Amino acid sequence: MKTNMEICLNLITPFDVIIVGGGHAGTEAACASARLGARTALITHNLDTLGIMSCNPAIGGLGKGHLVREIDAMDGIMGRMADAGGIQFRILNRRKGPAVHGPRTQADRKLYASAVQSEIKNTENLKVIAGEVADILIKDDRVEGLELSDGRQFLSGSVVITTGTFLRGLIHVGAEKISAGRIGEMPAVKLAERLQSLGFAMGRLKTGTPARLDGRTIDWASLDMQEGDNPAEPFSALTEYITNRQIACGITRTTNAVHDLIRANLHRSPMYSGDIESRGPRYCPSIEDKVVRFGDRDGHQIFLEPEGLDDHTVYPNGISTSLPLDVQEGIIALIPGLEKTKILQHGYAIEYDFIDPRELKATLETKRVSGLFLAGQINGTTGYEEAAAQGLVAGLNAARFAGRLEPVIFERHQSYIGVMIDDLTRNGVSEPYRMFTSRSEFRLSLRVDNADQRLTPFGLQLGCISSKREKVFAQKRVDIIAARSQLNDLTVTPTESKAASFNLNRDGIRRSAFNLLAYPASNWEKLINVWPELNAIALPIRRLIESEAKYTVYLVRQDEDIARLKNDDDLSLVELHSFDAMPGLSSELIQKLKLIRPRTISQARRIEGMTPAGLLILSSAARGKNVRFKTVHAANTGAEFA
Ligand code: FAD
Repeated sequence: MKTNMEICLNLITPFDVIIVGGGHAGTEAACASARLGARTALITHNLDTLGIMSCNPAIGGLGKGHLVREIDAMDGIMGRMADAGGIQFRILNRRKGPAVHGPRTQADRKLYASAVQSEIKNTENLKVIAGEVADILIKDDRVEGLELSDGRQFLSGSVVITTGTFLRGLIHVGAEKISAGRIGEMPAVKLAERLQSLGFAMGRLKTGTPARLDGRTIDWASLDMQEGDNPAEPFSALTEYITNRQIACGITRTTNAVHDLIRANLHRSPMYSGDIESRGPRYCPSIEDKVVRFGDRDGHQIFLEPEGLDDHTVYPNGISTSLPLDVQEGIIALIPGLEKTKILQHGYAIEYDFIDPRELKATLETKRVSGLFLAGQINGTTGYEEAAAQGLVAGLNAARFAGRLEPVIFERHQSYIGVMIDDLTRNGVSEPYRMFTSRSEFRLSLRVDNADQRLTPFGLQLGCISSKREKVFAQKRVDIIAARSQLNDLTVTPTESKAASFNLNRDGIRRSAFNLLAYPASNWEKLINVWPELNAIALPIRRLIESEAKYTVYLVRQDEDIARLKNDDDLSLVELHSFDAMPGLSSELIQKLKLIRPRTISQARRIEGMTPAGLLILSSAARGKNVRFKTVHAANTGAEFA
């Protein structure tokens, strides 16, 4: 027990905001707070692990890519860091509608982390402190600062906790259990106990990672290889082009022999022996989970992703596991191309505490302790991007709280960030939450191509946008207006358009280039065949205008559907007898609907995993109408469904 005098001697100059944890949520929160001018401290276990990736060496993907672009639009760091570390850029879902395109890059782990570290070092108003936070100082239900396990205390106006998988982290490999926050790192036990003593509703979740392989022992020549996009499309509006050398990754599959080996050893997996009871990410299952859940499949794809340009380590994406080491070795030896491959680090599962996100306001401030904010995996999410997006929101709000300014709320109709925070704080989680485009009822308007148009003006209002970005944004607005008017001014008759392989009705009506772009089979290459001058329009502007052209009609319908759904809460579902016959519902939702049999839309809305698209299908079916929302997307835009 310390005396008051000892405490006073240990007090260090107060900060406006202190962030705990230097992962993806913490670094984004720290930079956001500092950008607003708050005197910010980032306290983390080890300065060398700032910005490291605990699991897969990749940023972005379906739904996640939207978050990265939105973070970038608010002048956050993740997009620029991914551009600095990226070694294979791809737009996922490219064959579907632009609303569901998912920019993703594989990252060189070292390049990514060193970009984050240099960004943190060069951020004004930000001080980094190494240490373990053990206690939260609170007076009259308001946070006052933190105490470290070595006794140092730091006072601050607000605090953001972003401890990831570290709260009472417990690693499992077969029957072996190790207390750790990540492999080789101590867990945060005292802080977990302190949060519990404050009365927060807490639970346990689980995640896992695969073994890392020695790339020099992989038979690459026998494998299919996947290249990235050429040219690579950067994440950030501030990156003109990618300068890193780009690499290919290998593709292989598990086999029946692998599945037999896993089945024979299931009792040795902590998930099936009863050692792990907490839920893991359903959309990122372990290989033993895949074999149990999809028993009829004869193979599961594995992407062999090099972890760096000068690193032999390879990340086998798709086979995370907590089976014992001898079984992990057996599995690898049975996979085509990996027969002689050496394991550099074994895979493992980790269980950790999380706090029920219903304890939070939409600002990510806790309802129990004023000025205390939580962001990242601690709130029940999974993934770097989900963590970083929450870090941005918590960092901005913590700085505004310390400066006695109004809170900032990201709305559902404005951003995927808003969708995620609304989902978390309203519904809570029973499994790690990850972002999908199907979670948003506004997905036709919340696109990766317009993230800056939606959010940078908001960031400018808040004062978190650099002058460099402000200039780039202003120029882009001018270019967009010029391109739109150019496309509206250029017109052709159906006969003239035939030369560029447009096949229009011979109705004699002149159509503008913008009208032509709206056709599902149309694209910029075809337009440029007719009007070569359009080649001068930059790629980001082409993407934006093409989406506008293709979605104009459907955006009106989207708004109508949303308005209708708002009034449908009391609509009876009692007359719906078979959910199986409803196209567009995922098998997971069909199972839940059959089990729960909701009587109204309002009850269906509360089913975990229910999506806005699912609700629209139910409400349309209940009204005896065609499932218009589904038809519009599937036929014309190829958009994704729940
Ligand atoms: P982290 O990145 O974990 O950062 C937490 C930070 O807090 C660390 O820097 C730590 O040192 C610091 N810290 C913790 N406690 C204290 C304390 N008391 N004092 C000071 N500092 C502290 N995501 C996926 O999307 N897919 C996956 O397949 C996947 N698999 C994973 C497998 C494993 C084994 C692990 C560990 C994570 C996995 N993740 C996966 C999750 C992904 O790593 C996290 O979602 C992401 O890193 C969360 O970011 P964060 O900022 O919340 O926490």
